[in-house]
Amino acid sequence: MASRGVNDTLGGHFFVHTPKIIMKEVRRIMSPASRREVIKTACAGCLAQCGLLVTVEDGVAVKIEGDSSHWHSHGSACNRALSYLDRVYHRERLKYPIKRTGKRGEGKWQRITWDEAVDTIAVKMKEAKEKFGPESIWIHSGYGKVTDWVLERFINAFNLPTYTNPGPVCMVARKFASAFTFGPEPLPDIEYPPACIIIWGSGHEETRRIDAVKINNALKRGTKLVVVDPRKTGFAQSAEVWLKVRPGSDLALCLGMINVIINKNLYDKDFVENYTVGFDKLVDLVKKYPPEKVEEITWVPAETVKEAARIYATTKPAAMVWGNAIEQGENAFPNMRGLAILRSITGNLNIPGGDLILPTPPAMNRWDPAVSLANLMPPEVAAKKLWWEEEKKGLFKATTTYLVEKAVLKDEPFHIEMCYCNGGSLLTMAPNANRTYQALMKIPFFAASDLFMNPTVALADVVLPSCTFLEFDFVEASNYYPLISCQQKCIEPIGECWPDHKIANELAKKVGLGEYFWESVETDKTLNDMLGNTGVTFEEFRKIDAIMTQKTYRQHLYNGFATDSKKVEIYSEKLEKMGYDPLPDYKEPEETPFSAPDLTKEYPMVFTNWKAEKYRHSQDKYVPSLRALQPDPLCEISPEAGKKYGIKDGDWMYIENMRGKIKQKAKLVSGMDPRVVVTDWAWWYPERGVEENLYAWDESNINILTNGEPPYDPNIGSWNTKGVPCKIYRAD
Ligand code: SF4
Repeated sequence: MASRGVNDTLGGHFFVHTPKIIMKEVRRIMSPASRREVIKTACAGCLAQCGLLVTVEDGVAVKIEGDSSHWHSHGSACNRALSYLDRVYHRERLKYPIKRTGKRGEGKWQRITWDEAVDTIAVKMKEAKEKFGPESIWIHSGYGKVTDWVLERFINAFNLPTYTNPGPVCMVARKFASAFTFGPEPLPDIEYPPACIIIWGSGHEETRRIDAVKINNALKRGTKLVVVDPRKTGFAQSAEVWLKVRPGSDLALCLGMINVIINKNLYDKDFVENYTVGFDKLVDLVKKYPPEKVEEITWVPAETVKEAARIYATTKPAAMVWGNAIEQGENAFPNMRGLAILRSITGNLNIPGGDLILPTPPAMNRWDPAVSLANLMPPEVAAKKLWWEEEKKGLFKATTTYLVEKAVLKDEPFHIEMCYCNGGSLLTMAPNANRTYQALMKIPFFAASDLFMNPTVALADVVLPSCTFLEFDFVEASNYYPLISCQQKCIEPIGECWPDHKIANELAKKVGLGEYFWESVETDKTLNDMLGNTGVTFEEFRKIDAIMTQKTYRQHLYNGFATDSKKVEIYSEKLEKMGYDPLPDYKEPEETPFSAPDLTKEYPMVFTNWKAEKYRHSQDKYVPSLRALQPDPLCEISPEAGKKYGIKDGDWMYIENMRGKIKQKAKLVSGMDPRVVVTDWAWWYPERGVEENLYAWDESNINILTNGEPPYDPNIGSWNTKGVPCKIYRAD
């Protein structure tokens, strides 16, 4: 270990609490005769950390199944995990570092050593920093990987302010809104079960299978269900009330429900009086949102708003499941603040079957400055973070891809010399994909790491092959559940692949930051560092299923809430002092039928998007078993819209707006609002190859139609992906 490693800087900085810890017993079965073993590990396919059993024979993983003994996934595993070996052993897997030999995007490569690859990137970084300043180095992290904190440590230590990731449209709104309202994000106590569950903006049966199973179990036991979603999700079909909200207008609906709850005296007076601040100001705010006005804004009938408010406020206990769909757009942070307040004033916090605010176990906390090394970033360098309002820089560290791409294309306000893309596919994930393409074609140097070639990686100058989660040991700390899980290495890395955090660690050493990093990230010392103050070593952790915070109820009676006032801060003076709105008020986003009615004449529909269970964002399209389940992008419209525009179920259709057009396959869904189009997210076609327009990256890619320019949510920089105007017609 180098002289100033993680544990040396950790001492006493962690958020110390007194959770009761539950440790489960190991199951690692080994049969020496056949060299066959079953290894228990935690899935890192998304943030849910489901328990998996991986059967390994003679060093080859041959089977993956859900772990029925796992404390919260109970054997459930989604198709992505069950097909994971198709990905691990895929013949197209990137196995060695390569460098570009032909024109950018031409698909001509030469194998190089890791030394050459890391050296090339490190030298470019040092040169760019020296010549153009640290802001000229753009780092992008593609999706929430468990290893990301090591890259962020590098970013801070090397003083790099130009950083983008999906945070502004994924998970950050809920985390920050919770923190400014009552503390950690609440965990719905679904297994209790609640008498009522409200699912707001989440296709849980597609994206969070383990919770969907629990919700279904609760429904079997008589739980009432309310669903807020423009899409007819699986749960919308079995809901007592389904509120088909206009995409992007959720906060107005939330404030309308609060209006009803206050006016009908359905709120929890004892809780409001004793555990909240600013309720009187909320009363004033929601006067602007009577149900009839909310109907105009949201397209949800006033009577349905009232009914949903009544059911949610009077059926106790009630739990809320909120989703990523409402963390996108100008209202992202206030959306989540509004819902945090709704679940508070109805008295559902910290009660059995309600929403539990639980501390995370005391492992390494990536937000702790001792871990992130945020204090090494000089304030004058941090101030170079690109933002669209100079006086405020937002609450969140990352900036937006639009602002960086604009800098690349116009050399304003400064020059961007290079980009390192740590996984993910900017071309399918970032808004206004045509602009992203231009920026990546122009940038002088571009390096990327990933498991496979994709439209973005294909534009790189140097490509680094990454490991899957089966190929290295790690401590998974969840963004979502109050637990940490043991990710056990099951097989040796394929080819010469490296884990992403090893790439960041080695880059850090090459640019001269060895004192803050590890000699090797693959040692027990490093893994023990990650376990922080848990009191267990990684060797002991291997024998433990997970470390989690035990469910506790009503702890606010003893400790209050984790805010300055120790109460739920409906009105946030802290936000006010920082120059942000202290209350969550609705703002009509740009480019909607209300804010831009002229657009409606040409583009009468509005689109949102859905994510299929088979694919995590742009990933997994190359997995044959998953493509067999859903070979094409499916765009959902109502039968009325289909009839009006001459589109039948199964037809290919165009979705077009002022930025371009894309093609997806129509799926007619009865009951949907005829003005709404639900497009399929993040499509590209690996089977078309790099030679066919970079895997046909723009043919069905919804981000051809999104914008990504300001105005953003001023708190976290979220851009609009919902409620954008479009027109549809059959593709001949
Ligand atoms: S939901 Fe699927 S991908 Fe996510 S952790 Fe669970 S099994 Fe893995």
